[in-house]
Order: sequence, then C-alpha cells, then structure tokens
Amino acid sequence: MKLRFAPSPTGALHLGNARTALFNFLVARRAGGTFMIRIEDTDRMRSDPRHEAALLADLAWLGIVWQEGPDCEGPFAPYRQSERQAFYTKTLKQMQDLGCIYPCFCTDEQLADDLEKQKRERLTPRYSGRCAKLSAAESARRLQAGEPAAWRWRIAASGSLDWNDLVYGPQHQELESIGDFVVCRRDGQPVFLLTNLVDDCAMRVTHVLRGADHLSNTGRQLLMAQSLALSPPRYGHLPLLVNPGGVPLSKREGAIGLGSLARAGYLPSALQNYLARLGHAYAENGLLDLDALAQTFDWKAIHRAPAVFDPDQLDHWQHLAVRALDDEAYDRWAGVALGPQAPTGLASLVRDNVRIHTDLIQWRDRLTGQSPPTEEARAVLEALDTRLARYGEVHADSAALTDFLSGLRRDHPSAFPSRKVYPALRAILTGTLEGPELARIWEWMGPERRLQAFQDIPPHPQTTPHPELPP
Ligand code: GLU
Repeated sequence: MKLRFAPSPTGALHLGNARTALFNFLVARRAGGTFMIRIEDTDRMRSDPRHEAALLADLAWLGIVWQEGPDCEGPFAPYRQSERQAFYTKTLKQMQDLGCIYPCFCTDEQLADDLEKQKRERLTPRYSGRCAKLSAAESARRLQAGEPAAWRWRIAASGSLDWNDLVYGPQHQELESIGDFVVCRRDGQPVFLLTNLVDDCAMRVTHVLRGADHLSNTGRQLLMAQSLALSPPRYGHLPLLVNPGGVPLSKREGAIGLGSLARAGYLPSALQNYLARLGHAYAENGLLDLDALAQTFDWKAIHRAPAVFDPDQLDHWQHLAVRALDDEAYDRWAGVALGPQAPTGLASLVRDNVRIHTDLIQWRDRLTGQSPPTEEARAVLEALDTRLARYGEVHADSAALTDFLSGLRRDHPSAFPSRKVYPALRAILTGTLEGPELARIWEWMGPERRLQAFQDIPPHPQTTPHPELPP
C-alpha cells in the first residue's frame, strides 16, 4: 500500500490538514506500506517555499515520517508539481490524440453570462457546450490564429459512473450531471483534477484519504483515469470538521496552526491522540504511542458524520501527554516556558496542574505573589477571619502545614474548621482556590514567601457610601 499527503503550500498546516496527513500515515504504517509527501504548488501566486518548509517541519514535529518527498527524493521524483510539467503536457497530448478534450475559446464574460442565464432559469450551472460543437477544422483554424483556448474534457451525453468510497460507501453519478470541465486553463496551466490524478497514478499511490470537499472531484478523476487507462488510487473522503455547536469551523477556528499549538506547549503525542480520534473511533481510551495508534487504525471506523473539533478534548489529551512525560522530558518542556530563571522546584510542584506553557507562567506568578487573586479567591479573602491573617504573620515560619494548623487550632479552638481554613490558606498563599496539595505548596514556598503572602492580604473593602446617596 502506498499513501500520500499532498498539501498546497499556501499557508500553515492547520488541524484539518494535519488530521488528513496523520490518517494517511497511520494507514500506511499499519500496512507496512509507503507514505509520501507531494507538494501541490501549481498555484504559483499563492504557493511559497517558506510555507513548504514550515509544512514539512510541522509534519515532522507531529511525528510523521515519509519515505518519499521533496526533501528526501525517491523513485518518483520530483515531488513538487511545479517541477512536473512534462508529465502533464504528455497527458494533455494523449487526451488530445484520444479526442477526449477540445479547445474552448469562451471568454470569461461569455461564461459569466451563461451562468447568470442558468441561474435565472434555475438550471444546474454547467458549461453550455458552446465550443464542443465547433468543427475540428474551425477549432484548428482558431488555435492556429493564436486565439487563447482552455481545454475541456468532453463528457458523453449519457451513461453513469459508480464507485465505492472508502468512507462514504457506494457513489453514483449520472454523466449528464457533469458539465464538460476544464483540464487545462487558457494560460496553459493544467488544473488540479488533472495534475493530482496524473501524479497519483505515476507515483503508484494505492489509497487516498482526503477532505470531503474533494468528493465531488472524484467522479471526474475516475472518468479521466478510465479513458486514459490509468490505475487510480482508491479514494476515501474525510468528513468536515465542525465546532461543538455543529457549525462548520469558522475561518479563525479552522486556521489553528500546528506551529502555533507547538509554540504554546502542546505536545506531539497530544495532537497525535487527539487527531487520530477526530472522526475515528478507537476502543482504547488511554494515550497511545504512534505505533499503537497505527496498529489499530481502521478506515472502516472513520465516521461519516462531521467530526467535532472540541478544544476541551485536545486539552484532555494534552493533560495526559504532559503526565506521561518522564521527569527529564517534563523539565525540558517546562524550561521552555519558564526560562533559566525559573524558581527551583516550581515546575515539579505544579506538574499535575499544567497543560500548556501559559499555565506554568500563571502558576509561577501565583506562587511568587505576582498575580491578583481570582474572583473566587477574592471573595474568600474578603470574608476572611482576620485572626487567621494575624496568626499567619507570626507563624509563617512553621516548618510544615500540619504544625501551623495545630498551633492555629490550639490558639483559636473551633474557629477554623478544615472546610474554611483550607480555601482561606489557598487564597492567601496562591490567590486561587485550586492547585497542588496545600502541604506541598506550604513547603515549597518557604518562610519568606509565606510571610510575604500573609502580609500582602488585601485589606477588607472599605464600606464606601453609595454614590447616589448624599454624603
Ligand atoms: N492539494 C490538495 C488539497 O490540499 C490535495 C487533494 C488530495 O489529497 O487529493 O486539498
């Protein structure tokens, strides 16, 4: 089996594309087959080598490896479409010789007028067939005279096409529903339908999983393959991503780049586990490594319903991924966020409470008294029994939390039950009501930071007169 990922280098690798790449990679890996990257950079205006480099770097970061591609060559090089014009020219010539295509001299204005008319008459928009009716002699004369022409595939007047999509199952298309379609534009540029098919066949790709937006292209590609006696891959289409409300991802949501997630501290294994389950079910709910993800990846288990992109799920996998790091890897990961000046022991103290890099920064600021209390903590502080603050200022040097608490209860019997004193101490020491075990926080902070925290308790709010009342 040979699978591939064929990105257009027009922007960063976003989550939807990363999922497509991963699915193809997992299928190839499970089958012990080949995985290949092909760069579809025929759109010269929008393609950029910098995007290509970033795409490859993001894929490598995700843990994907490829045996063939623009950076490692292989038996079917070149792997960039911009360098494969000769293949397309040859195929176009073959199409002309077989009489499958004809030149179309229609101008943009004519095509736009046709479309308008079809819309008014509530007809399915498709090419009117104007140039299909030109005689061979007339077409040849106009070509000879240098009139610009696109080339269109001539669809038979009747017949139908049936095929089996790996995900969506049996597909059927009446040929009359397909208009004669362009395979080569007026500027000489072959279109995606052609280049993509020609390359998949030439590169012996056997299976393709790609976005459902390409489902409507498949019939035309199979039709061309049939006429040209090519062996096309088997296609499977991946349902679109929607947000938890069921709405297709907005541009902003859909554009979440893998690179920006990596910079935020997301780990490759979190993304692997999350993306592999985006519209694909696994029996196993724990964090799996890439091999295990591949071994049980089954395209028959890909859902046909839209896949819900839920950031909370991504955070769930990230949480597991952080927990699965060994100590050294965790310290390295935390070090990227906290830098060399990080207070000693801080990262391991908050290990169970962090998911991404900003969580580490937030905990550093909380535990070093640099961030204001959360709303809930502020409410607790406002209701604070001032005896606790005073006791704290005197006994902040108690070696362990248990010593501090037993002293407090001795001095103020029954004034400080656990359900009150714990949240109060959390609010005082960290400005939040959640976090690592309080005894560990106590120990890590040491007497000076603790004293500072007791001294820094915001004063009770003054009872200010109501602004609308007279003084
Ligand atoms: N370059 C196309 C895309 O990014 C590839 C489609 C395909 O996988 O066949 O959508």
